[in-house]
Amino acid sequence: MVIAKEISQVKQNVREWKKQGLSIGLVPTMGYLHEGHASLIKKAREENDRVIVSDFVNPIQFGPKEDLATYPRDFEADCKLCESIGADLIFNPEPCEMYEDDFHSYVGVNTLSEGLCGKSRPIHFNGVCTVVTKLFNITEADRAYFGQKDAQQLAIVRRMVRDLNYNIQIVGCPIVREEDGLAKSSRNTYLTPEERKKATILHKALEEGERMVNEGETDANKIVETVRNIIESEPLAKVDYVEIVDWNELQKVEKIDGPILMAVAVYIGKVRLIDNFIVDNSIVIEMV
Ligand code: AMP
Repeated sequence: MVIAKEISQVKQNVREWKKQGLSIGLVPTMGYLHEGHASLIKKAREENDRVIVSDFVNPIQFGPKEDLATYPRDFEADCKLCESIGADLIFNPEPCEMYEDDFHSYVGVNTLSEGLCGKSRPIHFNGVCTVVTKLFNITEADRAYFGQKDAQQLAIVRRMVRDLNYNIQIVGCPIVREEDGLAKSSRNTYLTPEERKKATILHKALEEGERMVNEGETDANKIVETVRNIIESEPLAKVDYVEIVDWNELQKVEKIDGPILMAVAVYIGKVRLIDNFIVDNSIVIEMV
């Protein structure tokens, strides 16, 4: 596996692979890899001749009061995991390699970036779209893999690719969870043992919401209230948002009559966790 710190190294490998007519899969990550990331890398491995994993804590997607400085890192462990799955190249640039001092070009998707996490993280998705654009251009990947764990990000990247005619296929991958239901996340390591136990409340509440939708409840406010009440029954939990939005424009819905995303962001102590489910009956119908 090639360990590349410089953009030119990645481009050189890509040039060789393209010459041979090989397909390339890209898995963008911020490192501190776990089984959630591994599931994306495995899928990329199955579907492409060459697999690139980017391992970069992207400074421009963090707000001034966020956890950029303390974001967990373990590049050696990341390399081992990527190698064990059979990735061909791991790209781990320094911030100055990605952003020169006079960097001024940003990419953003309006509307979809404004609600949910965008409300409390106003610059986040422009930072994501910008780094993802750079990674697409550097790797010339045929496919890029994103987790449903960050559902808003997935929806935004898909829209950006469609709106701006990028030549890449976006592959969404299901949420990988711990045995007790907590969605795997690099940020789970911030939780104290007690908080870690209590953090399962997100998944428990969402399971109830999903059950209501699947049993035919169409009143979105009723489901939101139920889920919020379950989360708030846990004294360590503080809700940032609990919302049901349409899975296209990410706008709040009152009545469920199409594909929806139910998403939550909750502070457990000082740690902000996100989780969600998507109900897309069009997919169910196709499968029947
Ligand atoms: P991150 O390193 O947190 O930026 O995540 C990199 C990619 O891994 C994103 O596309 C995430 O959605 C995805 N990811 C993170 N956690 C999970 C998980 N538990 N299950 C599936 N995908 C995940």
